Amino acid sequence: MQRSNSSINEVLGKKAELQVKLPNGRIKCTACARLCEIPEGKIGLCGIRGVTNNSLYLYVYGRVITGHIDPIEKKPVTHYRPGTAIYSIATTGCNWLCKYCQNYDISQRRKIEGVEMTPKQVVDMAVEQGAHGIAYTYNEPSIFIEFAKDCGIEAHKKSIFNIFVSNGYDTPDSVSMMGKFLDCITVDFKGSGKQEFVRQYIGIPSADPIFETLKEIRDKTSIHTEITDLIVPQVGDDLEAARKLCKFVYDELGPDIPIHFLRFHPDYKMMDFGRTPIETLEKHHAIAKKEGLKYAYLGNVPGHPLEHTYCPECNCVAIERYGYSIGSWNLDNNNCCNNCGYPIPIIGKLNRSTSRRNLFQILQ
Ligand code: SF4
Repeated sequence: MQRSNSSINEVLGKKAELQVKLPNGRIKCTACARLCEIPEGKIGLCGIRGVTNNSLYLYVYGRVITGHIDPIEKKPVTHYRPGTAIYSIATTGCNWLCKYCQNYDISQRRKIEGVEMTPKQVVDMAVEQGAHGIAYTYNEPSIFIEFAKDCGIEAHKKSIFNIFVSNGYDTPDSVSMMGKFLDCITVDFKGSGKQEFVRQYIGIPSADPIFETLKEIRDKTSIHTEITDLIVPQVGDDLEAARKLCKFVYDELGPDIPIHFLRFHPDYKMMDFGRTPIETLEKHHAIAKKEGLKYAYLGNVPGHPLEHTYCPECNCVAIERYGYSIGSWNLDNNNCCNNCGYPIPIIGKLNRSTSRRNLFQILQ
């Protein structure tokens, strides 16, 4: 592996699979719902896909800007392979322009940078670090989906699973590709997808493509799905928007889909905003329960009782959590409540290896 910082005037990366040639000579990228139509020599909004020699290239193919071992609960994912260690990687670039982005140094970097790693080297690193899964995260993974797919196929050969932490601003083409290698996805809403919020603070015209992505994943794949919703105080905490999102999840995806309401903290261009009041998060949680969702959680509030999984039947604490750690596990071998036998829809058994490890950084 070697570190690179090259100009995109060279032909870097790899030809993109998700591209359509247009009659006007431009090339349409179908990796995300921006659907950029790109002329020769230019790049798309994400900054890492562009047209060279009349073809679309993924310039960051094989360039990993960061890699960490995290517990799966940090994604957050709570109903898939709990307690496992995840090797989390990212490239530069993003298709969103979030003013609150915690990873803006990576996501808003419109440069082709990173450690050169083949898909096999990514998987070897995951194995070496004792990971059970690979997460494509920190920036939007659909923008580098061809690289993620090749890593993911290699990962399956070593019995390592694959997770997207995605904003869900995808297309039928990218969902179809996800179906070839992805095991789990957590789709991150922000401000419950309210139109005014996503226009002003994310830079997209509407959240409609995210809802379409979720239906496409439901209909065309078997990917385990969880939902998160970042609640931003004052501007992204509308309770009616949250109700609409919860109703969509209940009606279209079902009552067993986990939903996580995450606490905002000030970052990037939104340093003037405070942390989300706990009471606001609790109101969102109450709406989810009222709309019939059985597994609603609060995130980024370590020690809060709504981090736990409660049995929908007897209301016992089925899984006790503190932050990303799992305390008591009150399920039997079939993941049924120890108290009343109700089946909790969790894929996999508890793996305790990760909760004892500190997070640490592997790459830059
Ligand atoms: S992935 Fe990038 S180039 Fe492709 S449509 Fe989205 S923003 Fe545009």
